[in-house]
Amino acid sequence: MNGESAGTPGELWSGLDDPWREAFRQAWGALRTGNIAIGACASTLDGVIVHAARNRVADSTGPPGEAFGSALAHAEVNVLARLPYRQTSRLVLTTTLEPCLQCSAAIRLGPVGTVRYAGADPLWDGCHDFSPLSAREAARPAKVTMVGPRDDAVGMFATVLSRLGPGRVSDFAARWLRASGQGVLLDLALDLQESGEVRRLVALDVDEAFEYLWPRLQSLRDAQPTG
Ligand SMILES: [Zn+2]
Repeated sequence: MNGESAGTPGELWSGLDDPWREAFRQAWGALRTGNIAIGACASTLDGVIVHAARNRVADSTGPPGEAFGSALAHAEVNVLARLPYRQTSRLVLTTTLEPCLQCSAAIRLGPVGTVRYAGADPLWDGCHDFSPLSAREAARPAKVTMVGPRDDAVGMFATVLSRLGPGRVSDFAARWLRASGQGVLLDLALDLQESGEVRRLVALDVDEAFEYLWPRLQSLRDAQPTG
């Protein structure tokens, strides 16, 4: 998709497979409930969804086996926590945002062979490879393949979603994001919050919200330096 026109937003969205769409549905559910808008699901290699979950840091309850009301209640952890111990199959974990350090470690312990993520999160770059930590980690045969971020408007949408709340991105994180080239996405998220537009957006379904934001995402993408 590098540098290519992706067609209409409807075509782009309908081209997503079921695990991608489920991960975004979960992220949308997180946004609507005042959580950090990140969603994830685990699926088999042929795309059958095994379990899907969302961020629940601000929730006061949650499904059995999932974390809630805690800084640890991330979407990926809540997916992995529901997968059986010593499940042998190597699953695909699809998540809307580049996993954090905690979730990367959980992925390392879980039955996951591939991680697909939509949005880049420079706050956690460099936290996915545990090989440098010990000789044993370096020698483990089963590595996790990371696929992402998406370089289309879907990837940008995922990153913007993750910055919509609750609360504001800290000044320290904001400086880091701007230094990493994500200032325009952070500014779009801030504009959506400060204008109250996000409150109207959540009344839409996630695919409708993507279509609504697509012109702005696409113009930001077109303005990015190439090469
Ligand atoms: Zn996480």
